[in-house]
Amino acid sequence: MKMLFDYGTPYNALRIKHGSRLPEVSWGFTIRVGWYPLVNEMLDRIAKDYPSVRFQRIGALSGWLRLEHSGAPLDANAHMRFRRMIQGFVTQSLVTCEECGSTHADYVDATAYGCGTAMNRTLCADCVRVFEKFVYADRERRRQEFVHDHS
Ligand SMILES: [Zn+2]
Repeated sequence: MKMLFDYGTPYNALRIKHGSRLPEVSWGFTIRVGWYPLVNEMLDRIAKDYPSVRFQRIGALSGWLRLEHSGAPLDANAHMRFRRMIQGFVTQSLVTCEECGSTHADYVDATAYGCGTAMNRTLCADCVRVFEKFVYADRERRRQEFVHDHS
């Protein structure tokens, strides 16, 4: 379903290609499909230039690509190049839609929709409309359940 994590075919394709570098558990991998091409590109670069790097976490937190990794180069100059490369992908995540991958996305403050900050996203204008529908449908479902439980 749209707006939720999807551990289906696209995730499995990423796993087959980059398995040894990905977090071992699914909760270490919490990004939505729109960021898969970005993460795939990053992992391609890492496989080529920094083959010893492994990720313990690849996640989306408050609209940012958050990464935890080990095995980065120790040499100061190489380490700086590595950090700069990683930072380039993090910066791209700030304008990449988490749902459709459009590079015209913007930060969505979920608290403006009455949601918790865990729902903060980076979305394009089209996907913001889907997000709004998702939020309102979810709220209506909860209201119906409340009415049902209290009548
Ligand atoms: Zn989008």
